[in-house]
Amino acid sequence: TGVLDGKVALVTGGSRGIGAAIAIRLGEQGADVVLTYQHSADQAGNVVESIKAHGRRALAVRADNADADAVAGSVRAALGEFGRLDILVNNAGVGHYGVIEDISQAELDHVIAVNVRAPFLATQAAVPHLSDGGRVITIGSIASERAAVAGFSLYGLSKAALTGLTKALGRELGPRGITVNLVQPGPIDTDMNPADGPGADGQREFVALGAHGQPSDIAATVAHLAGETGRYITATAIAVDGGHAA
Ligand code: NDP
Repeated sequence: TGVLDGKVALVTGGSRGIGAAIAIRLGEQGADVVLTYQHSADQAGNVVESIKAHGRRALAVRADNADADAVAGSVRAALGEFGRLDILVNNAGVGHYGVIEDISQAELDHVIAVNVRAPFLATQAAVPHLSDGGRVITIGSIASERAAVAGFSLYGLSKAALTGLTKALGRELGPRGITVNLVQPGPIDTDMNPADGPGADGQREFVALGAHGQPSDIAATVAHLAGETGRYITATAIAVDGGHAA
C-alpha cells in the first residue's frame, strides 16, 4: 500500500524531464495519474506504462498549455476518467533566454500563456472539484529569486508571478485543508537544461553543491508535499536548488 492510495493526480507536462519523474513518483506512492503532454506522445505513453507497472491507473492527454480551452479540458479529462481530483501539479513550462530588446510580443505572450496563464487556468478549473485536503503544487524556478546572469527577464517574470498566485490561493483554499505550494528548482538535468549543455558549467558555478540536480530531486519534494507529510506546509515556496539562491 502507498501513502497516496485512492488519490488522483493530474501532472501537466508529464512526458519528459521533471514532470515525468513527478508522475512516476506519485504513481509509485499509490496515486492514479493523468499526465499531459504537447508533442511527445511516445514518451507520455512510456510514463503511463511505467505507472501501470506499479498497479496504478494512468492516462496521457494531449493538451497544449498555450491554449486556454485545452488546459481546462485536461482537468475535465482527469475528472471524467477517474472521477475525482486530489493533487494538481502545474509542471509544464517553457524556458526562455534573451535580452529584453530582442523579445517579441509573440514570445512574451507565449511564455506568459504557458508558464503563468495555464497554471492559473488549470487551478481555476480544478478548485471546484478538488477534494478537501487536496494539493496544488506548481513548479516555478529559482530564477525568480536570483538573476544570476543577464537574459532571464521574461522567464524570471513568468516564474515570479507564481509566488503571488501560490500565496493568495493558499490563503483562499486553507479553510478546505487544501495546500498550495511552489517548488523552485535550480539547474536540473533535463532536455530544457542538460548537465552537459552549453552554459551548464557557468550555472554550476552558482550552485553551492556544484552539480545539476536530477528530476527525482524535484519529484521527492513534490511527493512530500502531496502526501500527509505536507499537510502543514502551505502558501510558500520551497527551493530545491543545490544552494543556487545562496
Ligand atoms: P522539459 O523541457 O525537459 O520538459 C517540459 C515538459 O513540459 C514536457 O513534458 C513538455 O511536453 C511539456 N510542455 C512544454 N510546453 C508545453 C505546452 N505548451 N503544453 C503542454 N505541455 C508542455 O522541461 P523540465 O522538465 O526541465 O521543466 C519542467 C518545469 O520545471 C518547467 O516549468 C520549468 O520551467 C521548470 N524548471 C526547470 C529547470 C531546469 O533546470 N530543468 C529549472 C527551474 C525550473 P512535450 O514532451 O510534449 O513537449
